[in-house]
Amino acid sequence: LGSDVEVEGDIEIDEENEDSLLGGLQIDSSDDIEVPDRLVDQVIGQDHARDIVLKAAKQRRHVMMIGSPGTGKSMLAKAMSQLLPKEELQDVLVYHNPDDGNEPKVRTVPAGKGDQIVDAHKEEARKRDQMRSFLMWIIIAVVFGYAILIAQQLLLGIIAAGIIYLAFKYMSRGSDAMVPNLIVGNADQQVAPFEDATGAHAGALLGDVRHDPFQSGGMETPSHDRVEPGAIHKANKGVLFVDEINTLDIRSQQKLMTAIQEGEFSITGQSERSSGAMVQTEPVPTDFVMVAAGNMDAMENMHPALRSRIKGYGYEVYMDDTIEDSPEMRRKYARFVAQEVTNDGRLPPFTDEAIEEVILEARRRAGRKGHLSLEFRDLGGLVRVAGDIARAENREYTQREDVLQAKARSRSIEQQLADEYIERRKDYELTVNEGDVVGRVNGLAVMGEDSGIVLPVMAEVTPSQGPGEVIATGQLKEMAQEAVQNVSAIIKKFSDEDISQKDVHIQFVQAGEGGVDGDSASITVAAAVISALEGVPVRQDMAMTGSLSVRGDVLPVGGVTHKIEAAAKSGLDTVIIPKANEQDVMIEDEYKDEIEIVPVSHISEVLDVALAGEPEKDSLIDRLKSITGSALEQREVG
Ligand code: ADP
Repeated sequence: LGSDVEVEGDIEIDEENEDSLLGGLQIDSSDDIEVPDRLVDQVIGQDHARDIVLKAAKQRRHVMMIGSPGTGKSMLAKAMSQLLPKEELQDVLVYHNPDDGNEPKVRTVPAGKGDQIVDAHKEEARKRDQMRSFLMWIIIAVVFGYAILIAQQLLLGIIAAGIIYLAFKYMSRGSDAMVPNLIVGNADQQVAPFEDATGAHAGALLGDVRHDPFQSGGMETPSHDRVEPGAIHKANKGVLFVDEINTLDIRSQQKLMTAIQEGEFSITGQSERSSGAMVQTEPVPTDFVMVAAGNMDAMENMHPALRSRIKGYGYEVYMDDTIEDSPEMRRKYARFVAQEVTNDGRLPPFTDEAIEEVILEARRRAGRKGHLSLEFRDLGGLVRVAGDIARAENREYTQREDVLQAKARSRSIEQQLADEYIERRKDYELTVNEGDVVGRVNGLAVMGEDSGIVLPVMAEVTPSQGPGEVIATGQLKEMAQEAVQNVSAIIKKFSDEDISQKDVHIQFVQAGEGGVDGDSASITVAAAVISALEGVPVRQDMAMTGSLSVRGDVLPVGGVTHKIEAAAKSGLDTVIIPKANEQDVMIEDEYKDEIEIVPVSHISEVLDVALAGEPEKDSLIDRLKSITGSALEQREVG
């Protein structure tokens, strides 16, 4: 091996080529990548969370994980269960209590012993039954023979035999009661148990005792046989995972806390009017490690005592949404594709180019310069859809085209809605994408998290009766209204027109469906108002997004990639974005030639691009340029 080659697993890495999408991995397909055996080694990113899980597993501590869905919380919890010692596993048996049928006894034995005990009891019961039947038939034969021979009465013989038969049946009913009920069996368990109790109702979480419709008369099922374990019991010596912990009702959270505290918890019937509610077992062990998960809300809304329990006896960890893009990280993302292919079992392996396309998508979804998205569940979804497409075509490998097609198919509901919306607006010609109009500007907004729409803003300036006002109509959210206020500060400073004598009306056209996100529309509002005030028309073949400071600086906003793509889809030619967002642009190749992106840092540049009509425009922009920070401050002081 030369100095420029390093080995990762069995794969050679070309260091000179580290900047490539695969981080220099020399592979033909995902088949060449080795997938680690242990789940904990399959986790990508989340170094902090992984360290904590390793530590917590060693010390048997509880863990609380807070973060976005699909970033590996349940994966880490499962990984933790694989790290716990399996030697300690136990079986739990519930026995009939001859002293009190409603308080079954509980016994704990080493894993695997439970089955043997149950079998032994069954064997014994079977032998006893055999013996009993044998005896019964002898007695029946004797009585029957006696009745026929001595008393010469056939009917008497039949009746006597019947009575004896029923008597034996009744006596043998008890033999079932002697066989214990194995409620937790770990005989075949290779690793410590992992129980996911997300969204579990009380019975599933805490155990239950089934209702018995025949409560007496020799037909009843003995109570110990109706006992069913809950997740807290099945997780004994393993991991109990509860996602969205705050959605668990308060009573269940309280009981969960007791189980954690005591390390054991009796099983009782959960529905009050059922016969099961009369039954309560001796305590059943619940010695599990708790992994609670959720988003930020979850933490605020969970039972404070439960949270402090976990915090006091364990760790809290925040899951990352994105991770810095590096050659090593990209190699891990390639391994992620291999992992998903292996775990699914039916997907054709991915070619190197197909893997590259997945990594590109991870970059794109990060929405942040120099980062990769850690929302792996969605990324895994993309891998599966692409693989399914390839499989449907009977291809040996999943190729780049399949991933591209999968991307188009696996659009979120918001994206589908946004596309539908764009189409509909085209039908009604609500999207104006040519010509020049005074007081109308195409703004851009984000719908959901990952799709943009074109959102026109209209402004009108009218003489006012009293002091001038800025009136915003359409469904504006509070943030947007604030933006309108900020914008009006700038207008009032630079305009020759005495704006204090005028009302400025601003309308977000058809904002109802998407809403206006924050102040990312503030340069749009500014441009519309200035255009209306000065009577200078605005180009309609372009759109803009950006936030505006009171000094006229254009500040960065979110979702630029989706916004630019929406502008392109709506047939616009140019889009203005904040210069600070330039690095966040990761639009799909197909749009690259369709739209020109103009990064700007000051409102004067916005108007330079957006306004039409030369002479008025030039004087306006000169005036605007003069409202630099210092000029504005001086005027404010004056
Ligand atoms: P969460 O519990 O955070 O919602 P999961 O752990 O259920 O997310 O993740 C869903 C799937 O996504 C996992 O089964 C795994 O295939 C993949 N995945 C999630 N996070 C990671 C990660 N950090 N590294 C590798 N794969 C991951």
